[in-house]
Amino acid sequence: MLKKILYTLWLLLFCIVIFATAKSTNFNAFINVIENRTFDLRQNVMINTASKSANRDIVIVAIDEASYEYILDNYGEWPLPRDVYAKLTGYIETQKPRSIAFDLMFVKSFKSKPEADEALIKTFSRYNNVYTAMNLDNQPADLRIPPVLPEKLSVDVKNYSKNIDFSSLTFTNCRAILEGILSTTSNVGMINVSRADDGILRTMPLFVKYYDKYYPQLGLKVALDYLKTVEGYSPDKFIIDGKSNLLLGDRKIYLDEKGGAILNWYGSTATYQHIPLYKLIKIANGELKDDSIDFHNKIVFFGTTASSLFDIKTVPVSRTYPGVEVQATYVNNILDNNFIRKMDKSYTILAGIILAVITGFIVMSINSAFVASLASLSVYVIYILAGYYAMKFSNLWLEMIYPLMLAVIAFISAFIVKYFIKSRDFEQQYKLATTDGLTELYNHRYFQEQMRMQIENSKRYETEFSLIILDIDFFKKFNDTFGHQAGDAVLRQVAQTLKRNVRATDIVCRYGGEEMSIILPNTGKDVAHSTAEKICKRVSDNKFRLIGDKEVTVTISLGVSTYPYDGDSASELIEAADKRLYNAKNNGRNQVGK
Ligand code: GH3
Ligand code: MG
Ligand code: MG
Repeated sequence: MLKKILYTLWLLLFCIVIFATAKSTNFNAFINVIENRTFDLRQNVMINTASKSANRDIVIVAIDEASYEYILDNYGEWPLPRDVYAKLTGYIETQKPRSIAFDLMFVKSFKSKPEADEALIKTFSRYNNVYTAMNLDNQPADLRIPPVLPEKLSVDVKNYSKNIDFSSLTFTNCRAILEGILSTTSNVGMINVSRADDGILRTMPLFVKYYDKYYPQLGLKVALDYLKTVEGYSPDKFIIDGKSNLLLGDRKIYLDEKGGAILNWYGSTATYQHIPLYKLIKIANGELKDDSIDFHNKIVFFGTTASSLFDIKTVPVSRTYPGVEVQATYVNNILDNNFIRKMDKSYTILAGIILAVITGFIVMSINSAFVASLASLSVYVIYILAGYYAMKFSNLWLEMIYPLMLAVIAFISAFIVKYFIKSRDFEQQYKLATTDGLTELYNHRYFQEQMRMQIENSKRYETEFSLIILDIDFFKKFNDTFGHQAGDAVLRQVAQTLKRNVRATDIVCRYGGEEMSIILPNTGKDVAHSTAEKICKRVSDNKFRLIGDKEVTVTISLGVSTYPYDGDSASELIEAADKRLYNAKNNGRNQVGK
């Protein structure tokens, strides 16, 4: 009873803890961090098995450590005077690139060198395939007056998804971009990134909101430029459908609840073709020739890769990853229609339930705990592999942690339930195997087993123990007179009388027929003898009830033997007790034999 109450209480407590933790946002955040790590793991295996290759049409002009040194040595300052970028752009444009994008922000004017800024602005007005970046933030208004961004930078977005909430991508401030650029071109995209709770960049917003208008990502603008020239696709309005997909021509880009697209990575750093900036300067100045460098039809990204220039991110596939490569990866994902799609929560729950049911079935139907554990483990491994291949071949992110957690809980619960059922079965079987059905005393087999054990114990600890064997007097006659059923009733009642008159540690057995035996552990000759006398008297004094309220009396004869005096084996002790029982019979019955 107590066990049952405890078990129920424990189950209840378990359910409350599960329910409370599942509802807590901390717990969810914790699980998400682990889930995200499984994403990273999958991405790392994928890039290591070289299943994806970066687009060769994307080239990065990298302001690397060497270029930074070169700039300081040759220009004596950082940032690089903007006319240098103007000159390099002009050089690249001679090779007819698809587009040139600066993952750099040209903020405010340099008072010392206004003509350098002018040269850059002229570049933007001359070429319509040159792009640059801006960054939105939430600086307090008293620190910086929020600039009014030109209408042409924003885009029209129709969001039909109830799941997407742009509030975390809504900003109130913007780094002021060089006035001349803003008035000359609409090729300015934002470069805001989203980081997960663990600080790792896995998703990129496609749009951010700034005073009720949507502003697109730099990479999205660059990709649209490519789609326009290659596929003729040029939207005047962006539509996010009810299933959170941004429709981009034939492409569907799945957006998460914060409006971010989950990037699929093509490799760790420097997957894209890198050209150091200093090399390009030398080529543009005619100081160096390198025929391997070709910008024709290429998407050229300018950006910093030198860690001292601080545009370094932590991404699933690398601890240090330059922001410009994040942009390249983002463009690559749009061109390949390759973003990751996270499965709906309802599928996650369904997967968890299916895994839990399979696990429960395995544990319940397989007898060997080892085999059941192995089978369950195999199911989990298959699910993990399915999660990997779904991401590799279908860009699907199957959640791992919640489903596997459910499955493990099912495994433990099934084991507990099974253990309880099994132990109860075992107890029942053990009882059946050791007791006599009629008298409910221990049976002969148990008697023999206990005799062996008593002898071993007594030998080891040098103690004594006794054995009483008894037989009902004239029982054949009793049966003949009152019938077999009456005989059975008396047998049962004699058994009860015996049990009532011995110690709890004494073992009362049905030796066979109407003969019974009692093992008395740690009991010497004298005590055993007086116990036998007492039993003899109690039985003869007792009135046994028969059917129809008839009362009868019976007597018994008993024989006692004690270890070690009467023998040191079970058979010797039984023989000695039997002999005295025989003596009692011969001596007139209803007594303890000598
Ligand atoms: P004695 O005093 O010499 O022991 O005489 P007795 O008639 O009891 O002789 P014995 O012990 O040899 O008799 C055994 C009888 O016990 C035989 C059988 O009729 C009866 N008996 C044995 N087992 C059962 C049983 O399970 N139920 C009933 N009703 N009788 C049984
Ligand atoms: Mg007998
Ligand atoms: Mg008898």
